[in-house]
Amino acid sequence: MARREAPAAGPGSRALVVDVVRSAVAVSRVELAELTGLTQPSISLIVRDLIADGVILESGSADSVRGAPRKLLAIAPGSRFGIGFHLGPETITSVAVDLTGGVVGREVVPLDGSPGPGLLAARFDDFAAGLDLPRDRVEGLAVVGRRVETEWAAALSGRLGVPVVIENDSAAAALGEFWSRRVSRDQSFGCVYLSTGVGAGLVFGGALFRGASFDAGELGHLSIAYDGRPCPCGNTGCVERYASMAATVEAARADPGLSSRLRLGGSVSSAYDAVARAAVSGDPAAFALVDQAAAYLSVAVTSMVNLLDLGRLVLTGPGMAVAGSIYARRLRTHLAATAHARHRHEIAVDLSAQPRDAAAIGAAALVVQASIAPGHTPSPR
Ligand SMILES: [Zn+2]
Repeated sequence: MARREAPAAGPGSRALVVDVVRSAVAVSRVELAELTGLTQPSISLIVRDLIADGVILESGSADSVRGAPRKLLAIAPGSRFGIGFHLGPETITSVAVDLTGGVVGREVVPLDGSPGPGLLAARFDDFAAGLDLPRDRVEGLAVVGRRVETEWAAALSGRLGVPVVIENDSAAAALGEFWSRRVSRDQSFGCVYLSTGVGAGLVFGGALFRGASFDAGELGHLSIAYDGRPCPCGNTGCVERYASMAATVEAARADPGLSSRLRLGGSVSSAYDAVARAAVSGDPAAFALVDQAAAYLSVAVTSMVNLLDLGRLVLTGPGMAVAGSIYARRLRTHLAATAHARHRHEIAVDLSAQPRDAAAIGAAALVVQASIAPGHTPSPR
């Protein structure tokens, strides 16, 4: 039988094998060769190295049609950890994940003073010590959030002695969902991140899509109206001006009845949560506002899905924490009726299990991916 031409075992092969083991949960060496297209000798070598490095383990055996039972391979969860920080407006969320993307520790502390490398280094020391994580098993730190500056990475890395990555919150959240949901690298995967703004993260072939200047995924500035509301970015009709948490709060505050009933003073986050809670508990005016925001968002997301032919979407971010089901219902209905590829494949829409922590979890997952499946992400140093 003619052998299928196998790709040469290069630096990307290790990442490929890790990705297939991760998404398959448990897989034999023979199946790995079939799924990756690599030769058996290449698989044997890569698997041997990954077992020696503690990244994967032999988890049992499956019956084979003939001959000896085949050993199954799985990711070894507890051998290494990644830490992620999400800087919110008032808090720092710290999360540690194992190699499967499972959360092993989480802490939210108030953000006292202006964030910077000094404050974050102290937070890292406290968090790792509180969890009793052996420092030599912590593979690095990733920090996400609107106020994070890329120049902090070098200072932080020098101080902590581990690789440090600075990433965008929506992109990190997408990678976290991709990793912990065991999404196959064959999927074109996207994540909608609803927060004070609107962002998206995209994972193609197992890697985050970053664009020319690490600015990909600006879903919030996808226009839904040619002569719509002006946006500070310079464009008009940007969906962020209609469907972000800030836009929904603005609309709610413009309704005197709703505004006094729900007491919408305070921060955008607390006012938005009040509207979202009212919407899911049956307040008609609050529901109408959130459902309208979801309808606006659906138009923009459908354009993104059409442009990129996405097969699977996850809705996440703090804006999805309370009223995520309203957005998911709208989006599923809209995609089922309008998405260009709807007759060729399903476009699955899932809600994140941890929408408020998704960016921090994703940051930690980014560290794990950079450590055990290098080649997907730019070097974190
Ligand atoms: Zn804009």
